[in-house]
Formats: sequence, C-alpha cells, structure tokens
Amino acid sequence: MDYKKYITLVNDWPKEGIEFKDITTLMDNGKAFKSAVDEIVTYADQLNIDLVVGPEARGFIIGCPVSYALEVGFAPVRKEGKLPREVIKVDYGLEYGKDILTIHKDAIKPGQRVLITDDLLATGGTIEATINLVEQLGGIVAGCAFLIELSYLHGREKLQGYDVLTLMEY
Ligand code: IMP
Repeated sequence: MDYKKYITLVNDWPKEGIEFKDITTLMDNGKAFKSAVDEIVTYADQLNIDLVVGPEARGFIIGCPVSYALEVGFAPVRKEGKLPREVIKVDYGLEYGKDILTIHKDAIKPGQRVLITDDLLATGGTIEATINLVEQLGGIVAGCAFLIELSYLHGREKLQGYDVLTLMEY
C-alpha cells in the first residue's frame, strides 16, 4: 500500500524548520492503519517475539495492536516520573530536545525476545535509548519496526547489527 498519501506533512512544527510527519491521518483511515499494523505483525511473526516494547506516545499506538495480534505482552517506555513502580533510566537526545526515558524494572525477563515499535525513526536517539533499556534488563532486541524513516537524519547508523523494518522513507 502507498502509505505516504495518508501522511500529512506539517511545516514548521513543533518549531521552525521542522517538517513534521503527522501519522494521525493514517490512523484515521481504518484500512490503511490495519494494513500498516498487519505488515509489522507479518514481519514480527518470523522473529519469535515474546514482548513488544514501545516509547511514549506514538510507540504505543503502533505497538499495542501489534502485541494484541501476536498475543504477547506490551511494555511501555515512558518519560521520567510517569511509571508508578521501580524503574531503570536512560538519558537520550531527540531531533528537537533532550530527555530521560524509563521502563519498569520487572517489565522484561532476561532472554526475552523483544520487538521495539515506534511511529518514526529520525536521529535514532529514542530507539537507541529504548534498546539500551531493553538490554539493561537482559532482553534481546529481535527487531525494530517503524512506520516512517527519515533517512536524511541517518538514524539507521545507530541500529547497525539490529533487524529493522520501516514502511515509508523520506
Ligand atoms: P529520534 O529520536 O530523533 O529518532 O526521533 C524519533 C522520535 O521523535 C519518535 O518517538 C517520534 O515519535 C518523534 N518524531 C520526530 N519527528 C517526528 C515527526 O516528524 N513525526 C512524528 N514523530 C516524530
């Protein structure tokens, strides 16, 4: 499917000079959203996944329907101060800013095979931080799936040695 026709390009948001790729218009279209999720499920099917992990907030939108279809759990990665129990943390840099990501300490059992999902791969800072959290807990990153890759930001360079699926490239 040509998913790009469902993505809205928003100029100068969240700040000047950024062309934001808005996936909400893809999510609005039931057939396009289902098709995109199904492609990620098909990809994950051959990876023997035990758990899906996604960073807030759009990583949840992609990861939860994938985990439901695979009948495996979903563990949220959240900004500092949002998860209620004991967490581990990592500092990370974004395309526009800096922050701390956390995951519950008991979210992953050592040796579990994890699929990481997010809407978009930009500089790779978010995915790198999420991989760091999964590996700190002894998880194995079996694959990473995104709707969109901004290849001009070279996020893939941070993902060498990992299996990556992206459905659209800009
Ligand atoms: P990275 O850490 O630089 O790879 O940025 C990726 C993260 O920023 C993802 O969690 C995205 O949700 C978010 N992000 C960055 N640019 C965009 C965009 O154009 N559209 C939607 N999300 C974006």
